[in-house]
Amino acid sequence: MPRREAEGADFEVSQGVSVVDTFDKMGLREDLLRGIYEYGFDKPSAIQQRAVVPIIKGRDVIAQAQSGTGKTSMISLAVCQNINTETREVQALIVSPTRELATQTDKVILAIGDFMNVQTHCCIGGKSVGEDIRKLDHGVHVVSGTPGRLFDMIKRRTLRTRQIKLLILDEADEMLNRGFKEQIFDIYRYLPPETQVVLVSATLPQDVLQVTEKFMTDPLRILVKRDELTLEGIKQFFVAVEREEWKFDTLCDLYDTLTITQAVIFCNKRKKVEWLAEKMRANNFTVSAMHGDMPQKERDLIMSDFRSGTSRVLITTDIWARGLDVQQVSLVINYDLPVNRELYIHRIGRSGRFGKKGVAVNFVKDDDLNTLKDIEQYYSTQIDEMPMNVADLI
Ligand code: ADP
Ligand code: MG
Repeated sequence: MPRREAEGADFEVSQGVSVVDTFDKMGLREDLLRGIYEYGFDKPSAIQQRAVVPIIKGRDVIAQAQSGTGKTSMISLAVCQNINTETREVQALIVSPTRELATQTDKVILAIGDFMNVQTHCCIGGKSVGEDIRKLDHGVHVVSGTPGRLFDMIKRRTLRTRQIKLLILDEADEMLNRGFKEQIFDIYRYLPPETQVVLVSATLPQDVLQVTEKFMTDPLRILVKRDELTLEGIKQFFVAVEREEWKFDTLCDLYDTLTITQAVIFCNKRKKVEWLAEKMRANNFTVSAMHGDMPQKERDLIMSDFRSGTSRVLITTDIWARGLDVQQVSLVINYDLPVNRELYIHRIGRSGRFGKKGVAVNFVKDDDLNTLKDIEQYYSTQIDEMPMNVADLI
């Protein structure tokens, strides 16, 4: 697999930001550095070069960078740097929008922080509360979780917040959106007043940036202009299916292309995911399906099959749109166009991780053409008609 550098393009910054272009020069602990190199990172990405040092120095930071350029990994290493492993108190809280993303981040911290013996707990819905209580009572340094369960544990005083120094919102625009905002503020109110706050996301619309003024202190902002947000490495196409009924055959025709590596297919509704998966199976295609109505055990199983490559085609909802990192995914299909512009960026960003190649294919009905044009213009990007040789681009 080619690994071109995930050098983000042009950063728009509020103040001069210094660039530190090696991990060695960041002033990290030796045992953490060793963890980073063992994990396979040689050189920091553009966002890491700019944001790691301010974060570990304790500054509030708002960090935007293109999908797959190492934001979540950066959180993990900054958290490891800033905790004291001599005590067993929670010192950093990472909040993510989905259970799968919270779990993924927890695992990265454990891996990178292996040599420093970092203790973490993943605090998410759908898992045993008893286990949360046991783990938190025993004591951990870092908790990665989803808002509902986190707040539950905080209210019960099982998750003690006294020693928390750092709050991180991954996919921050989603966390500060209607659905989650109140829960985030509920959590925030339980944290010490001097808690450092770090926000990261590929998309940070203006209204979200305004909300941040309520709970951040003179944050360093590293922002990306929206015409720099799509990645060169992810080629975007559309197929004019005209009508809904014709999407299915189009997908079947693409099946061989889907399985060249791994593919994620997005539908807008859970019911549609189920319907499509059943219809594909009835036509003898092997597919997996995942959505938020499934029991967590089943979600976990589908995730692990997909991560291991046992399953190659995943039909899913926007539960999968943000943050999840499976490097083998090189094709994303929007069976339905997403309901907003931000989701488009996140969905297509499931492919083309850290400089790899990716292809995104949008199925457009006649009445979707304007939506697609809007996306194209908004991001100043190009979405051409899918060529016959699309398989060669994967
Ligand atoms: P983002 O949160 O910006 O979408 P991630 O942190 O999930 O990006 O990283 C995307 C992929 O790139 C992951 O597989 C991660 O392990 C890898 N990665 C991140 N930083 C580096 C680095 N400095 N060197 C090599 N690979 C990296
Ligand atoms: Mg991420």
